[in-house]
This record gives sequence, C-alpha cells and structure tokens, in this order.
Amino acid sequence: MTLLSATDLYRFYHVGDDETRALRGVSLELRPGELTVLLGSSGSGKSTLLACLAGLDDPDGGRIEVGGERLSRQPEAHRARLRAAHLGVMLQSGNLIPHLTVLDNALVTGTLLGRPDTARAHALLGQVGLGQRLHAYPSQLSGGETARAALVAALAHGPQILLADEPTAEVDAATEGWMTDVIGEFVHTQGRAALIATHSLRLAGRADRVLHLKDGRWTDA
Ligand code: ADP
Ligand code: ADP
Repeated sequence: MTLLSATDLYRFYHVGDDETRALRGVSLELRPGELTVLLGSSGSGKSTLLACLAGLDDPDGGRIEVGGERLSRQPEAHRARLRAAHLGVMLQSGNLIPHLTVLDNALVTGTLLGRPDTARAHALLGQVGLGQRLHAYPSQLSGGETARAALVAALAHGPQILLADEPTAEVDAATEGWMTDVIGEFVHTQGRAALIATHSLRLAGRADRVLHLKDGRWTDA
C-alpha cells in the first residue's frame, strides 16, 4: 500500500539567464509504518522535493499522487484541500499563525476539515511538554517550544503522512527527544508515513530507510 507516490519529478528554477535544476527525475513512494529520512548536502534539492510533495510548490515535470488522487499540476485550492486531508507539513517557512495561540494553531487544519479534535490537540501538546503553554502566542515561545508547537500543529488533525524539513534544527536535546518520540509513535504505533530531512542522529536512529539526494537526483551515498 502506498500513501504517497512521486514519479520522475523535475523542478527547474530560472533566475535571469541561469537555470538551476533542483530536481532531475526523482521518484519515491511513502508507505504506512515507514519513517524515511532524507539526506543530502545544502542545495541538493531536499527543500524543493518536500515543498513539491506538500503541494506548496509544483514540479515542472512528473506526477505526485496522495491518497490515490493527483496532487501535482492542480490549481492551488485543490492542492490545499489534498494537503489538509492527507498531509502534516512542517517546512522551514514555519507553520504557526502568529495571531493564534499554541492550542488554536493545533486546531487550524482540523477546523478547516470540519472536525477539530481538541482532545487530540491537548494530548499531543501535553506529550511535548507544552501543557502549560496552550494559550501562549508564537512570539512568546522559545525556539524549542516553537518547534514542538509546529510539530503538533502539523499532526493534530490526524494526517496519514508527515513531511518535515529539519524539524529539530536548533532545538535542545530534551526537545529533540520529545519530537523524536512523537514522530516515532506517529509512524510506528499509528502506522503512518513520514519523510523527514534531518541531521538529527536521534531521529535518524528511528528511520526505516535513508534516501540520499545529490544535485537533484538519488545517489547511493
Ligand atoms: P515560465 O516558463 O512559466 O515563464 P520560468 O521558466 O521562469 O517560468 O520558470 C519555470 C518555473 O519555475 C515556473 O513555475 C516558475 O514559477 C518557477 N520559477 C522560476 N524562477 C523562480 C524563482 N526565482 N523562484 C521560484 N520559482 C521560480
Ligand atoms: P536543499 O534543501 O537540499 O538545501 P533546495 O531545494 O533548497 O536544496 O535547493 C536546490 C537548488 O535549487 C539549489 O541550487 C538552490 O539554490 C535552488 N533553489 C531553491 N529554491 C530556489 C528559488 N526559489 N529560486 C531559485 N533557485 C532556487
């Protein structure tokens, strides 16, 4: 069973006369119960791949399917609907809305779907040590608290797939541990899928497979 499939993705950026080939024929499948770690040096295409799979960017070639429906080459509103229905997304642009509290941020996507799960949001926030910070605003949070709140906001509506770009960058060891446990439980206890670009050895220790990008293509090492 495949939750997400990407086939032969291409993504070119044009700036002036320069062309950057950020993705050059990338295919992958994400399956239930699999934590996939995405590695590659800076500029290898990790963020571009995650943004395309999240429907926040659109590939110039290839095809992405999520939950049996085509995500790529669709109008933005259609991609946004599929994203909410199937994906939890934590990219570097940040997924917290500044004028909403930690708890309300966790309820955004569920509310959009017409089924906000307050109990699940509370449970996840408690699990990452934010039980006392429910009514704080993002600007009042430390870096570690922000990362934890963003992870909960990505997961509280109960998606099938987590896509995350360096979720534990610049957090302390305790936060890294909390986040690793939540992600591990999401994938291995609940049988969901995750694709995570990370340099965290702790998180990588839970990986079922590791994929390496180099210059927009898969490589063996
Ligand atoms: P077009 O062929 O539609 O005029 P380009 O050839 O400039 O567009 O770029 C191809 C794709 O890359 C388009 O989807 C465009 O939005 C995107 N793109 C081009 N330059 C940039 C950039 N600097 N940042 C982000 N996306 C870009
Ligand atoms: P990584 O996440 O692995 O660091 P990226 O996906 O951010 O890699 O970048 C892949 C390549 O695409 C790099 O060469 C980068 O400079 C280029 N790139 C990324 N985003 C844009 C953009 N918006 N406009 C032009 N080039 C871009």
